[in-house]
Amino acid sequence: MRVLVFLDGTVGDPEAAHIRVDDLGLLRGDGIFETVLVVDGKPRELDRHLDRLASSAAKLDLPVPDREAWRQAVHTALVNWPAERECAVKLVYTRGPEGSGEPTAFVLAQEIADKVLRQRAAGVAVVTLERGFGPEVAERAPWLLLGAKSLSYAVNMAALREAERRDADDVIFLAADGSVLEGPTSTVVIAQGETLRTPPARTGILPGTTQAGLFDGAESSGWSVKVEPLTMDDLRAADVVLLVSSVRKVTRVVSIDGEALPDASGLHRQLLSIYESLY
Ligand code: PLP
Repeated sequence: MRVLVFLDGTVGDPEAAHIRVDDLGLLRGDGIFETVLVVDGKPRELDRHLDRLASSAAKLDLPVPDREAWRQAVHTALVNWPAERECAVKLVYTRGPEGSGEPTAFVLAQEIADKVLRQRAAGVAVVTLERGFGPEVAERAPWLLLGAKSLSYAVNMAALREAERRDADDVIFLAADGSVLEGPTSTVVIAQGETLRTPPARTGILPGTTQAGLFDGAESSGWSVKVEPLTMDDLRAADVVLLVSSVRKVTRVVSIDGEALPDASGLHRQLLSIYESLY
C-alpha cells in the first residue's frame, strides 16, 4: 500500500506516472529527501526532519521549503493511511524539470519493509568500508554536500550491495584516517558504561534525528551523552554498538567484519525502551 500527496495538498495515484523525464531529481539525483517513521498515526521527530530538510535545501541552494505545506502534506497522507499500520513517509524535494525553476515536491507513505522488521528484532551483521575522504573535508569542501540528505544515494546503495556480497546486512563507513563515520542509511551510536557516544556531524555525516531523540531520552534517564570522534577500538570496547535510523529505530550490531560482538540484547532492550518512551 502507498499514499501519494503533492505539496499543494493534491492526493495522487501512487501507481501512476507523475514525474517528468527531465526532472533533475531523476536525471542527476539533484534533490533532497527525508524519511519519517509513523507509529499509531503519529510522525516521529517531524520537527527535526523538517529542520534537516531546510538545512539540506540550503546546502543544495534549493528554494526554502514551505514548512507548513510539508507538515500539512504529511498530515494528509496520514489521514489516508490506516493508523494501526506503521509506515515510513518519504518527503521528496527535487530541483524539478530542467530549466523550469519549479521544484518537484511530494510525500509518499509506504509500508515498512519486512527486512527492516527482521533486522530490528535480530540485529545486523556489519562490514566496515572506506569512504575515501578525511573527517575534515566536510567544512573545507561544502560542494560535496556532506551532511545534506541528498537524493544521490547510489553510492550508499552500492555499499549495501557490497555488504551483501560479504555476507553482511549493513555497513559502517570509515574516514581516510580510519575514524568511524556512519552507516549508508543510519547513525552509529555506542554505549559504554552509562554513556552514549556518536561521531560529530562535522566529520561529514548526516545529523541523525533518531540519534538526537535517543540522546534526549537517555539524558532524561540519567545517562551521559557525548558527540565526539570514534575509532574502531572504541567500537570493539563498547558494551553495545547500534545503528539507529528513523525506520530501523535502534538496531544492535551483532558482528563487525565477521567478528561476533558479545551478546548485548539486554542493554539493547533497555536503550530501545528509552527510545520508545519518547513517543
Ligand atoms: N545517516 C545517513 C546517511 C542516513 O541516510 C540516515 C537515514 O536514512 C541516517 C544517518 C539516520 O538519520 P535519521 O535517524 O534521521 O533517520
